[in-house]
Amino acid sequence: MTETIPKPREDGAGADDASESDPLLLLAPLRIEARAIRRGLRNLPDPPAVTRTGYGTTRAAQQAGRLSHDPFGQMMIMGVGGGLTTDLSPGDLVVGTEVGAVTCASAPILAGELRRAGLPARTGRIATVDHLVRRAERAKLAAEGWLLADMESAPLAAAADGRPVAVIRAVSDTPHHPLAGIVSGGLAALRSLRAAAPVAERWAAACGTRQVLLAGPRSFCAGVERAIEIVERVLERQGEPVYVRKQIVHNTRVVGDLESRGAVFVDELDQVPDGATVVFSAHGVSPMVREDAARRGLAVIDATCPLVSKVHAEARRFAADGYTVALIGHAGHEEVEGTLGEAPDSTVLVQTAADVAALRPRDGERVAYLMQTTLSVDEAAEVSGALRERFPAVRAPGSDDICYATTNRQAAVRAVAADSDLVLVAGSKNSSNSVRLVETCERAGTPAYLIDGAEDIQLDWLAGVSTIGLTAGASAPPAVVEEIISALSGLGEVSVSERVTTTESIRFGLPKEVRQ
Ligand code: SF4
Repeated sequence: MTETIPKPREDGAGADDASESDPLLLLAPLRIEARAIRRGLRNLPDPPAVTRTGYGTTRAAQQAGRLSHDPFGQMMIMGVGGGLTTDLSPGDLVVGTEVGAVTCASAPILAGELRRAGLPARTGRIATVDHLVRRAERAKLAAEGWLLADMESAPLAAAADGRPVAVIRAVSDTPHHPLAGIVSGGLAALRSLRAAAPVAERWAAACGTRQVLLAGPRSFCAGVERAIEIVERVLERQGEPVYVRKQIVHNTRVVGDLESRGAVFVDELDQVPDGATVVFSAHGVSPMVREDAARRGLAVIDATCPLVSKVHAEARRFAADGYTVALIGHAGHEEVEGTLGEAPDSTVLVQTAADVAALRPRDGERVAYLMQTTLSVDEAAEVSGALRERFPAVRAPGSDDICYATTNRQAAVRAVAADSDLVLVAGSKNSSNSVRLVETCERAGTPAYLIDGAEDIQLDWLAGVSTIGLTAGASAPPAVVEEIISALSGLGEVSVSERVTTTESIRFGLPKEVRQ
């Protein structure tokens, strides 16, 4: 699959014509704004020039006519503006997602970069009006979904004409802090503008045309889809709150979405009221947790992935047959804690070959091993190899414990990493299989970064990078991948192709409590 996300130009030229060596056109309407930005840039070795465009829509439109034929590579508009919503404060930064009719797709990346610099930045729609907005009009524009109003950005942004464009406006006044003159009311805004200025240069350096290689398969696996559907169905049937022990899957977006719909995530069962319904997460629980729930009279709905349950069953079986079970996995992971709890007197966690050397089984002829489902295939092979070497009679699991989704995503990302300058892995920091995807790339010699979303992409990563591999861990929603591609397209034309190493058709049935 190949798809190009172009930046159409009105004169018929493509974004390829915007050479990466073409300069940043950095615009500020007012002298006072331009001065603040220049001050913010003055410590840079080769600061970009700041062009003043003049106050108001008429001057902005005149300037836009002149600028549209300039040989700039990308345009950044900076200035102050009026906040429209009551949750904004003077000095906050608004990065435009839409500015009039112009889409500024890189806004999430830019806002994330500003926040990492310690600045209060949000993304939102910016309206351009031809007069200062007063109380009633602020409320009307806010109700229409605009976050900030200014008097210049829309005509200037239109002059970018398909080239990358971004708008950063610092809030000078809000419904609670009405305009009292640009100097007295806007000091906080000018300070923010000055602090934000160096980000403009980093943004420009990250702009350019590039290729995105999508790894296939990626994103949700059958176990994660099942777990999410279980919580959704319980919410539908019982209404909120629905208690879930631990994160249902390790992804901040999924958890945040379900929380907003009424799910309550708790660390332990003592946070669940007596008699309530509780969902166990996809990573599984130990028998002690089940017993505790039964003692408390909780109604349990089990979202444990069937492939995790399979490992639990193997642990019980090996232990019952008198084996010492070496569980290859990572200490502290919920899945590992659940599996260790199945046969705590017979199971020992081994994380490395050194742990294997230190293993003291009851009987060296009766050793078996199991694995966490989300391990790195290569890393697990090293440890299982050490076990086979030390205990030649060691019993392996009946079928691979590292699940199909983990194995497939690692093979797929390895295939794109080979041809990428860097790889972005969508996933949360506590997602084991997502972290393993980063390690897989690094082992292949390609730098890789774990990101929850486009806002985590650092502009410095992208400078000089023409091919980006992109994948998502098994707990990361497919929509995040789309969001990342969209944000990258705001930095220049992106051509997207997919490398599919295998296709997946596995589905797991739902537990009886939520069927129908
Ligand atoms: S990653 Fe594997 S074990 Fe974990 S939920 Fe998905 S399919 Fe199940």
